[in-house]
Parts: sequence; structure tokens; C-alpha cells
Amino acid sequence: MGYDSRIDYWIINVVEKTLRTIFINSSSLLLSMAKYKVELDEKTCIGCMACTAACENFVPNGSKAKVVKAIIEQSELKSNRDAEEGCPVQAINVKKIEE
Ligand code: SF4
Repeated sequence: MGYDSRIDYWIINVVEKTLRTIFINSSSLLLSMAKYKVELDEKTCIGCMACTAACENFVPNGSKAKVVKAIIEQSELKSNRDAEEGCPVQAINVKKIEE
């Protein structure tokens, strides 16, 4: 392999790695921008407070629970899903609203 070929090969490698890094970072950014809507049906809620123990996004509100933040980020999804899945009367609904 001649000197010029080695330089071409090196440039192609650098460009490929740079593009790969940009693509991976963009994908992570898109994933982290996902948003979710959290709803709690107060009529269905029986006030057991399992959700307030599972996630800080739920707090007591008299004899029921209420949602603190209606729109959450991807990073907050797990605990809100835990609350949703732990609700004995399915009063909580967490749904994706945008990427
Ligand atoms: S877990 Fe369900 S029923 Fe219990 S307080 Fe929360 S929303 Fe209400």
C-alpha cells in the first residue's frame, strides 16, 4: 500500500468514526426527548397510596392521590410505570405522547 493509499485509508476511517459518533449521539438525543403523559382517574382511585410509595410523581391529595407532573421525560418513566402497574384499580395511565 503506497503512502497516498494509507492517507486515504486513514481519512476514510476518521470520517467513518466521526459519522458513527454523530449518528449514535443523535439517536441517544432522540431517545432522551421522548415524553409521556401521566393521568390519574380520581373517580377510580381508592386512596391506597401504593403509587405515592412507588414514585415521587404521586402525592396524597385528601383521601386520593394526585399527579405532580402530568408530562414526564424518558428518564422519569420507570418509576411512573411502577406506580401504574402497582395501582390495584388501574387508575393510572402513562402513555407516550411524542418522540
Ligand atoms: S395506587 Fe391507584 S388507587 Fe392507590 S392511591 Fe394511587 S391511584 Fe389511587
